[in-house]
Amino acid sequence: MRTWQRRWRAGSGGEWSRRLIKDVEKWVKRPHGKVGHMLTQWLTGHGSFGTYRFRIRKSQNARCFHCDRGQDDTPEHTLFRCPAWIGERDRVESRLRRLIHIDNIVEVMIEDEEKWRVISEWIEREKQEEEWRREREG
Ligand SMILES: [Zn+2]
Repeated sequence: MRTWQRRWRAGSGGEWSRRLIKDVEKWVKRPHGKVGHMLTQWLTGHGSFGTYRFRIRKSQNARCFHCDRGQDDTPEHTLFRCPAWIGERDRVESRLRRLIHIDNIVEVMIEDEEKWRVISEWIEREKQEEEWRREREG
């Protein structure tokens, strides 16, 4: 486990995942927490994000189409930066009575099952809505 942790910290690529999951042992040994489709996409950054879709040439550009800021749609943008999702983020934070940011989100999820559920449902909702919208708008 310690070797794994060391390799995880030193590894190259997957910076986003490594930033989120700081402690591999805690992550692997968590007593709860199913990782669904959308949550997997969010944790890896591979999936329904402008930056990823642009990289695999499924989109013309990487821009977020929920806001007019001309910003790239990244996993970080969706949850923490996009003004279109501020209301949702506020609701989640008030349910958890915590401020959530990139550097604590996974730790908060691991704390208990209820927090895991609130956060993973939030991510699932946002990304699902995003996928539907992409399908509608082509
Ligand atoms: Zn946006």
